[in-house]
Amino acid sequence: MSNDNNLNISKLREHINRLERFLNVWEQLDEEILTSTNSASNDDNGRLLTDRHEILEAMEDVCNEFSGDLRTSQINMLPSYEYNVDKSCDNQAYCAVCINDLVSKELIRKLPCGHNFHAECLDKWLQSHETCPMCRTRVIDG
Ligand SMILES: [Zn+2]
Ligand SMILES: [Zn+2]
Repeated sequence: MSNDNNLNISKLREHINRLERFLNVWEQLDEEILTSTNSASNDDNGRLLTDRHEILEAMEDVCNEFSGDLRTSQINMLPSYEYNVDKSCDNQAYCAVCINDLVSKELIRKLPCGHNFHAECLDKWLQSHETCPMCRTRVIDG
């Protein structure tokens, strides 16, 4: 588990480093645009503005990746365990995401509300939702 966390932190740090590099390039472009307004041709200014626009889009992509990885870290903090039909006292013996029965030895996540899901199914669901698929209890912040 701690290995996973380290992996996530270095991944998040990587995004921030990329963001910082883009920000530096953006700053340079901004200065170029400011200083070249009078002397440079319209073509040059157009190119600079296009470059700046592309940097902005690239930064947006990095931010999306960043929040995706942040979400993954949050999901990974939810407890997971190997399902055991014999030991389970839960009435709910199926996964509401894929509507398949829970089978022993499958990796399961149990939410604070008490509902069980295949870890794989739930993780996919939680990438775009913040709530339990069954009872809508909020499980992800933000
Ligand atoms: Zn499932
Ligand atoms: Zn629930």
